[in-house]
Amino acid sequence: MFDFYPEVGLSREELLAKIAAQVKDSRFQHILGVEQAAIELAQRYGANPHKASLAGLLHDYAKNQSDVVFLDLIDKYGLNPELKRWGNNVWHGMVGIYKMKEDFDLSDAEILRAVEIHTVGSSEMSVLDKVVYVADYIEAGRDFAGVDEARAIAAKSLDAAVAFETVRTVEFLAAKRIAIYPQTIETYNAFLPYLA
Ligand code: GDP
Ligand code: FE
Ligand code: FE
Ligand code: FE
Repeated sequence: MFDFYPEVGLSREELLAKIAAQVKDSRFQHILGVEQAAIELAQRYGANPHKASLAGLLHDYAKNQSDVVFLDLIDKYGLNPELKRWGNNVWHGMVGIYKMKEDFDLSDAEILRAVEIHTVGSSEMSVLDKVVYVADYIEAGRDFAGVDEARAIAAKSLDAAVAFETVRTVEFLAAKRIAIYPQTIETYNAFLPYLA
């Protein structure tokens, strides 16, 4: 575990308190699970475990913000107005990083990128991006059909785990007739060749 996070100039205790003040308790427990899974994946696949810890702790920081907060941030930072047609699921990462930048003195591009794309992925993902994306899906508190298969795949290949998660997410959204964000489709196309 890490006692201090220079990227935000906070002790672990201070950082956890700040996160806990912004999210529901169940979400906070998920966040701790993602941190642990991200550290383990980072050690296995050669990402910086300290950065994996911080990105894991911050990835859902904006999850419990209201829609008006995100809509205001889209205007304030001149983000693509098309984003307004989406919702919390897409906003909490893609737009949530702007809330994070306001609330923390954080300029670390690797951390911000991993949080930004943790829901939708990207055709271009760093090892840290993949670690956070997969950790979010397989952390110990997750319990859904297919999670054990996802964990087994993640133990063997990080790219195959990204592919599996993305295929399952696209299938899930399509089956429920939920709109799929274009970048999610780009991730799907880019990682399909790695499907085990
Ligand atoms: P969580 O924040 O820990 O619950 O996990 P994620 O940030 O990975 O995903 C949040 C929600 O967004 C999940 O219910 C996903 O199924 C959903 N989601 C993922 N990709 C897309 C997408 O392309 N479009 C939409 N509408 N939802 C998505
Ligand atoms: Fe999330
Ligand atoms: Fe995810
Ligand atoms: Fe999450």
